[in-house]
Amino acid sequence: MYLHELTIQQAKKGLEIKDFSSVDLVNAMLDRIEKLDGDIGAYISVDADGARKAALEADQRISNKEHLLLKDECSSNNNKTDRKINALCYPLLGIPVALKDLLCTRGLKTTCASKILENFVPQYDATVVSMLKNAGAVIIGKTNLDEFAMGSSTENSGFHITRNPWNRDYVPGGSSGGSAAAVSAQMCTAALGTDTGGSIRQPASHCGVVGIKPTYGRVSRYGLVSYASSLDQIGPITRDVTDAAIMLNVICGHDPLDSTSANVEVPDFTAALTQFETDSLKGMRAGIPKEFLSLKGLDPDVEQAFNNAKKTLEKLGVEMVEVSLPQTDYAVAAYYVIAPSEASSNLARFDGVRYGLRDTEANDLIDMYKKTKSKGFGAEVQRRIITGTYALSAGYYDAYYGRATKVRAMIRDDFTRAFESCDIIISPVAPTPAFKIGENIDDPLTMYLTDIFTLSTNMAGLPGISVPCGFSSKELPIGLQIMANRFDEMAIIRAGYGLEHTLGIKQKFPDI
Ligand code: GLN
Repeated sequence: MYLHELTIQQAKKGLEIKDFSSVDLVNAMLDRIEKLDGDIGAYISVDADGARKAALEADQRISNKEHLLLKDECSSNNNKTDRKINALCYPLLGIPVALKDLLCTRGLKTTCASKILENFVPQYDATVVSMLKNAGAVIIGKTNLDEFAMGSSTENSGFHITRNPWNRDYVPGGSSGGSAAAVSAQMCTAALGTDTGGSIRQPASHCGVVGIKPTYGRVSRYGLVSYASSLDQIGPITRDVTDAAIMLNVICGHDPLDSTSANVEVPDFTAALTQFETDSLKGMRAGIPKEFLSLKGLDPDVEQAFNNAKKTLEKLGVEMVEVSLPQTDYAVAAYYVIAPSEASSNLARFDGVRYGLRDTEANDLIDMYKKTKSKGFGAEVQRRIITGTYALSAGYYDAYYGRATKVRAMIRDDFTRAFESCDIIISPVAPTPAFKIGENIDDPLTMYLTDIFTLSTNMAGLPGISVPCGFSSKELPIGLQIMANRFDEMAIIRAGYGLEHTLGIKQKFPDI
């Protein structure tokens, strides 16, 4: 196997036995980026010098045997036998990780794929970035996205599009398309994305990798540039489920800097996987929402992959039950009122006064605001700001924003009821495999409708995973979505792991 192909677990093993160094691993990724990224466009910026320096430090630590240190003894140097990953002080020592360019990185440009922040360099790290660095990870670069995470194809980036590594005529999905493409094309070992309505799960599905959107509140949003604050969550995009569990253990936990961060215990997500047996899922109940599968426009290849995944889970002893999510028809409409409303408020800060782009030809303050925003924001972001401002304005608030929040409460209730009869809920991630570049970009409504299976999870604050479960007739990957109750990431990880190991399609790479 090549260094760029390794999972986190494999890379950790190789680093430990000194088969290769972290510098070798980072150089392999940088070579790969050099060779491929001109075409794929997964990255907005690559921090080659910073990554090499961090890799050297990691190698030094490995030489000092610090990779064996446990959390409570980071400063001492004794080796204990309890080597559970989440007990380690540096669970990601020397591992090259990429970050969606919506996460603040101290001293490294954070653009949100927007011209308005083209030259913005934050003075602090997002909490998740500090957590990754503290765990020993090497930050290799910042990945492309739909501007401010608004989109489903990464075509809305203010800089360039990202291509799907499986077929470059197709989109990688979005908005974390850069992170998913970077993992899929092996230009990093793992990445972080963000998910407001599906932006981790849908690109993971389209690029044939694993993506987890954690429960709302599970991961700190401090230092994440907000799109829709009541829906945004940060999560891992990785080559397999175990890697996702490892990453999740690093980034979860209470953060006093984020008032919505939940103060709940974080279990060892990898523990259930190391002890996984063929009958481990026996007795688990999977709900299938009847409204999802009767949906018009479900691609036959997606339906087939879904049915195949369902059968596989059944073989593992998972019992299928029908559940109902009656508000499904209203979810897209409600989301596309709530998310733009929050966005219109969040994005008001980019006014040309405090930071970011400022138009210099304006006659007065109002003119400066107008010109800065018109030049700085792309068409989709402007559309969302206008929609959101309208939905929140006096006289329309009750009719639009108010009603959408009522639908949201009903969606949450639907899930609560559904989870009375099941432990997980399964569905396709998206109605179709990846679509062609340019196919939906001029038709926002069609683009919005592709989020139908993912955005209810955000409205209800639940965790969800996308696990590769098949390929379309055009050889494009298809993922299965598994959702669970609040804070039950363990259930989606266990079911996802069972599926991954039984289907045997993990570690299939695009031919590039
Ligand atoms: N496609 C959805 C949107 O454009 C979701 C985006 C996301 O999850 N960031 O709002």
